Amino acid sequence: MVVLGAGVAGLEVVLGLRALAGTRVAVTLVSPDARFSLRALEVARPFSRGHASAMDLAAFAAEQGAEFVRKAVTTVDPERRVAVCDDGDEIAYDALVVALGAVSRPAFSHVVSFGTGDPLALNAILADVEQGYTTSVAFVVPKGTSWPLPLYELALMTAEEIYAMGIDHARLHLITPESAPLEVFGLEASRAVRELLDAAGIALHTSVSAQVPATGTIDTGFGDPLRVDRIIALPVHDGPHLPGLPADAHGFIHVDEHARVRGLRDVYAAGDATDQPIKQGGLAAQQADQIAAQIARDAGADAPAPDPHPVLHGRLLTGHRDRFLQRELGEQRSEATPQPLWWPPAKVHATYLAPYLEEHQLTTLPSHEEHPAVEIRVPVRHEQRGGPGVPGEDPHDPAT
Ligand SMILES: Cc1cc2nc3c(=O)[nH]c(=O)nc-3n(C[C@H](O)[C@H](O)[C@H](O)COP(=O)(O)OP(=O)(O)OC[C@H]3O[C@@H](n4cnc5c(N)ncnc54)[C@H](O)[C@@H]3O)c2cc1C
Repeated sequence: MVVLGAGVAGLEVVLGLRALAGTRVAVTLVSPDARFSLRALEVARPFSRGHASAMDLAAFAAEQGAEFVRKAVTTVDPERRVAVCDDGDEIAYDALVVALGAVSRPAFSHVVSFGTGDPLALNAILADVEQGYTTSVAFVVPKGTSWPLPLYELALMTAEEIYAMGIDHARLHLITPESAPLEVFGLEASRAVRELLDAAGIALHTSVSAQVPATGTIDTGFGDPLRVDRIIALPVHDGPHLPGLPADAHGFIHVDEHARVRGLRDVYAAGDATDQPIKQGGLAAQQADQIAAQIARDAGADAPAPDPHPVLHGRLLTGHRDRFLQRELGEQRSEATPQPLWWPPAKVHATYLAPYLEEHQLTTLPSHEEHPAVEIRVPVRHEQRGGPGVPGEDPHDPAT
């Protein structure tokens, strides 16, 4: 099996296959990156509410008995069953898993684009608020965003931070094309998030396809433009446009409900690179689990098929007590509670990757216990634990 991409989906496939089929299948993992770290935790960094340590991919692959090829793939040739790398090298496969993720780009000029630039740009805004240079901040979800949760987290944690600074004159706005907050999670979750926004004093503007014609100016389509000191927006995404694979107009790979690439034999795709409507790590992992089970069965292992009904899980960081949101897609009912609805209570729910990251102490999150202000920060010396973390990269490591 050749896995293109070492993000959430790629790593989940490798771990899942090893769990289900042992060493029956030879695995090659291909990625231009030397390291993996959980991007979902980037929202926590400016607020010191969590941290993701980098994991060395060559060490991970070696630990899993896989080959690691540090290259970018430029084409797939399904007829010849090869993936072609940027240096012209070809990697032959029996089964191919494409997990290249999406390509992010800023949705607007004149804004801080969270997820494409420096995650710590928010710290400069917080410092400006503290010093009185900034009194209004807008958090904007661009049209077409399928996973707006990070922006809600940024808004809520900014409100909490400003409150802690003792500042009461700053005005925060959250502007979204959704008709209700986090509507992808359904009614109950939406109501709970609206209450959080109200309590934090964040002005919510729903059903708005915002435009940003100039610095600090947001055209909401309703009345006069909104003027604020600073704007933070999520990026928009394109597919990987990988030649050789069927894709939609934006380059997202066509897959069926079993994550098989349409029209091709033994080619699978998972995660943000696919044309599934919601680009989210937990859903990427569920596709990866389907693929791992299928390839394990093809290799003769007795691997049960995972539940085919996708479930959306979201751990919403609030700066205070996190909320666990859950909804089976296609069902009306949803849940929103401060108690964990899954275990480990990971930011990205993934059957194999979440416990793996937890076990190797590669993620740090606020405590989900009764007194959430206390953050669990366990100093880790990865080189002593034998895991594939990168030594010297953890700011909580006393060695650094
Ligand atoms: C700020 C933020 C917060 C988020 N919060 C959450 C959350 O709370 N919960 C949640 O479930 N999800 C969350 N997400 C979404 C989640 O991170 C993504 O959905 C998930 O990472 C998608 O996994 P993936 O494997 O498809 O892609 P990625 O994780 O993006 O991995 C893609 C991999 O492919 C590699 N690659 C790219 N091009 C090539 C190439 N040409 N050849 C070979 N390899 C290539 C990349 O280097 C990378 O290793 C968040 C995302 C962001 C940015």
